[in-house]
Amino acid sequence: MTAGILPQKENRWTVRILSTGGVFSAAELKRIAGLAERFGSGHVTATSRGTMEIDGIAADKLDGLLDAFHESGLRLGGTGATVRSITACKGTACVHGAFDVAALAVRLDAAFVGQPVPKKFKIGVFGCWNSLGKACSQDVGILPAGPGTFTLHMGGMMGRTPQLGIQIGTPVPAARLFEVIEYLLGVYRRQGEAGERFGRLLLRRPELAAQIQRDIVSLCN
Ligand code: SF4
Repeated sequence: MTAGILPQKENRWTVRILSTGGVFSAAELKRIAGLAERFGSGHVTATSRGTMEIDGIAADKLDGLLDAFHESGLRLGGTGATVRSITACKGTACVHGAFDVAALAVRLDAAFVGQPVPKKFKIGVFGCWNSLGKACSQDVGILPAGPGTFTLHMGGMMGRTPQLGIQIGTPVPAARLFEVIEYLLGVYRRQGEAGERFGRLLLRRPELAAQIQRDIVSLCN
């Protein structure tokens, strides 16, 4: 199945459109609206990860939509066993935001979104601890620590059996953040079973979770 295409009831289809950190330009929104009117139900659904979905697409209109999509400059994705779209808060503009959340989300998107993993992997970035709960429900949740450093939570998830992420016991300097996420993705790819979420792997292998904590301390110091 092509990334970003989901089956619906009654032989209809949905396409999921990636934003960058939850942001679409007004021009992109107009293009999405036009495609929804031409090929879908005329409705657009906003998702919790900042993507947009055009739904109600009849099977015989799907190919036409995909052709139109390729010319639109929009990105399909956010499905399957991949790193999913980056969730980001409004911390760039919000009075509580401690750093430029949108800029970091753009860089995280470019570095990681769409990479293959055993199940799916969700990264969220938030400008203050008001979103601790959201950070704890990501595979990697990023919050501000001191100046130029971040606090990470790993292995959180929602779904049928939600679990809170585990706080990584050392602040992660901004200069090491991408290296740490690469390392976590590498552990997940090497040690995770097909279909297993990262959080389940950490629960199943507590010694691995402890080793990760030690390795990140080494990476960051
Ligand atoms: S998490 Fe904090 S910085 Fe981000 S939007 Fe909420 S209050 Fe603002």
